[in-house]
Amino acid sequence: MRILLAEDDAMIAEAVSVALKDAAYAVDWVRDGAMASGILEGEEHQALLLDLGLPKMDGLEVLRRLRGRKSRLPVIVITARDEIDERIKGLDLGADDYIVKPFDVNELLARLRAVIRRHGGQASPVLTNGIVSLDPATREARCGEISAILSAREFSLLHAFLLKPGVILARTELEERIYGWNEEVESNAIDFLIHSVRRKLGQDVVKNVRGAGWMVEKPA
Ligand code: CA
Repeated sequence: MRILLAEDDAMIAEAVSVALKDAAYAVDWVRDGAMASGILEGEEHQALLLDLGLPKMDGLEVLRRLRGRKSRLPVIVITARDEIDERIKGLDLGADDYIVKPFDVNELLARLRAVIRRHGGQASPVLTNGIVSLDPATREARCGEISAILSAREFSLLHAFLLKPGVILARTELEERIYGWNEEVESNAIDFLIHSVRRKLGQDVVKNVRGAGWMVEKPA
């Protein structure tokens, strides 16, 4: 799961990036609104954390353009305590939630899980295809009698599959989901992750689709 963070305050951005990475997200950080808006056109990210007071293009304009393109990307707006009007405008422009600075990163993570879950149309926080289930709050995966706590990367991999059971994901799509811009990706990284998820949960959890990629089965 790959998150775009648009925030010009380096201290906040650093703290949020560290927390997101610890929680198994890949994070790309930009410092101005114009850059954020351009990058969002590439549709590489699964959620946006958007500071409203940004140089070059303010956060509300970034949001207006995003929703103007009919993007349904989950967006959490980051606002200062006194920016009540902006917060309301943000919600009216289609932000999914907001958080007020200074905030606790754990609260931000919980809000992020909630907007991503709602976006996927799931009422329950636990993702499942009926065979394997995954709890985003604890990174615990279960398959029959087996349960295991996944590493950050293993979690990201299985999460990407469980968001779309029955859909084949190719290597490049998985790499985009799991790794940020500044991360080196070894050529066999995805194979290694699939191997370790299978070792923890069983061989059949992730299916090979020859020449195309991998998938988890669709619920029966
Ligand atoms: Ca700012």
